[in-house]
This record gives sequence, structure tokens and C-alpha cells, in this order.
Amino acid sequence: MSLPGVLLAPEHHWTCPNCSATHVTREARPHTPFHSCRGLRGLTAPFVAAGTKAKVEAREREDYVGADRAAVDGEGRPVMSVVTTRDTGQDCAVLAPCATATSERE
Ligand SMILES: [Zn+2]
Repeated sequence: MSLPGVLLAPEHHWTCPNCSATHVTREARPHTPFHSCRGLRGLTAPFVAAGTKAKVEAREREDYVGADRAAVDGEGRPVMSVVTTRDTGQDCAVLAPCATATSERE
């Protein structure tokens, strides 16, 4: 008896250092899943590969927000990026604000 060939996608397990969320992906290409993190006041934050020692922090925006539509956390504080720090380096997810403009006809 022969069994049909089965291609098994690799299973990646993910955890978050700031909350209890976990995730499993089956993707061969390099990727990083994100989640809405309760530990970072609802910000969209990257997962970290399970077993990896890492720190994920939100960086507050310190300049004047003005009319920009900046990303804010669950407490309304403007956040400019979420930074993951590992022993091997850093990753940065930039939360780019949207500028706004109005036009007037003459
Ligand atoms: Zn989280």
C-alpha cells in the first residue's frame, strides 16, 4: 500500500512578552504575525518566536501631533513605533501617522 505524498508546512509557535496571547502559523517564508496587545494598551504589536528572549516596547510620540492622525494606544497616547529588542538586534514597526489637508477653491 502506498500513501499519497503529504507536504507538511512548518509550524511556527509565537508568544508575546507583554500579554498571554499565543499564535501558530504555517508559513515557509520569513514572517512576523501581529496582534492587538492587551499588555501594550491595545496597540498592534508583533509576536515573538516562542522560546526567544525579547522585549517589545511602545515608543510614545513626543513631538506635537497637530492635525496628524497619529496611532494612539488604548489610553489615547500617540505612539510612533513598536520596537522589538532581541539579543541579536532590533526590529521596529513604525505606526506612521496620516497627515491631513484641506483645499479651498478660489
Ligand atoms: Zn501581546
